[in-house]
Amino acid sequence: MKHKLRFSIRGNRELRLILPFVAILLALVLLSDFSIDILSAARAYVGGESLWSKGQKDAVIHLMRYANGHDEEEFSAYERAIAVPLGDREARLALTRAHADYAKAAAGLLAGGNHPDDIPAMIRLVRYFGRLPAIDRAVGIWARGDNEVETLNKVAEQLHAAVRDGKSGAGDVALLLQRIQETDARVTPLEEDFSFTLGEISRQLREILIPGIATVAAFLLFPGVAIALGDVRRERRHTLHLTHLASHDALTGLCNRVEFEHRLSNALDEVHRDGCTHALMFLDLDEFKVVNDTCGHAGGDELIRQIAALMRSKLRQTDTLARLGGDEFGVLIMHCEADGGVHLAEEIREGIFHYRFVCQQRTFTLGVSIGVLTLNRKVTQVAEALSAADRACYRAKQNGRNCVHIYP
Ligand code: GH3
Ligand code: MG
Repeated sequence: MKHKLRFSIRGNRELRLILPFVAILLALVLLSDFSIDILSAARAYVGGESLWSKGQKDAVIHLMRYANGHDEEEFSAYERAIAVPLGDREARLALTRAHADYAKAAAGLLAGGNHPDDIPAMIRLVRYFGRLPAIDRAVGIWARGDNEVETLNKVAEQLHAAVRDGKSGAGDVALLLQRIQETDARVTPLEEDFSFTLGEISRQLREILIPGIATVAAFLLFPGVAIALGDVRRERRHTLHLTHLASHDALTGLCNRVEFEHRLSNALDEVHRDGCTHALMFLDLDEFKVVNDTCGHAGGDELIRQIAALMRSKLRQTDTLARLGGDEFGVLIMHCEADGGVHLAEEIREGIFHYRFVCQQRTFTLGVSIGVLTLNRKVTQVAEALSAADRACYRAKQNGRNCVHIYP
């Protein structure tokens, strides 16, 4: 159960770290897909334009044949050919009206011979980028082309009616044929202009889409990195907190026994390497249980905290004060001769003795028994040093408490 819980916590943390980047990746994939979609729509319009053009040219050819031979088959062929530009015209009108009709636009583009898979993107291009100057210009050219197609179709209807009614005199047909050729001549430069503008659309789209993707990526990356860094910082703080807990006493914030033994070991190494001396104190509060019994465990805890602060105030930054357990403390005085250790022990004892602890309207006077050991080359082991200082402290207790005893 514990393992499962730990796994799920770690899993959550990793998920939290990974999720923003997955979201960024997903957003970029979607954005790239949209960009490719829009650029391929521009390509689809190139195809659509050549179908439009072929339809218009075929329509002209069939209409001219019809004008000369009055063959209804040719007129049907004309109608099939002109249906392509007329379908595109319907699509354009549906797309550019105040309330665009996308279903009608799709039907028109389909009639214009465009591939069904390309049609949604072709609609999106005009829908989302219709205000782009190149697209606006292309739609304008498209409209002018449609006007010519309309004119052609009207001429075709007139011609068809004249033939059907037997009123197609040579002069009338010649006039209509001339109008057909004029229409055709006006369409050709429009087609060229339209193709050129489509190229411009692709260039303008690239100029918008690529910086757009880069900007969105930067905006997404910023919070993603901030979240990940925040998580890494939290993790580091947590690790530091755990490291601190492993080497410190939770009640007083002083070093604990493990850390004290570690520092004592380093101090002994220095003694044996450099021949210097340090002093080690072992302190045990006198009759601490009385405070516990009178004020309760919480009162006893408060006293331990206050005494710890008092002792800390009497030491140098380089000295180590540790809580070794219960009401026991250890002090490591660095670079100190025997006299110095005893002098400081007396100072601490006096400080504690003059300290007044007030709890539940009662004032307590405290004593402390202190054992002092000089750390010189005669002492080799950490356990040996601690045990000797502890024994000296015990002798201080035996000597009537509230006093300092120097080892041995
Ligand atoms: P002595 O003069 O011989 O030192 O006697 P004492 O009353 O000080 O008692 P002793 O040092 O033998 O034992 C310390 C007591 O401190 C034992 C335990 O009840 C109490 N104690 C141990 N740890 C804690 C703690 O974290 N908080 C509190 N409030 N009391 C503790
Ligand atoms: Mg005690």
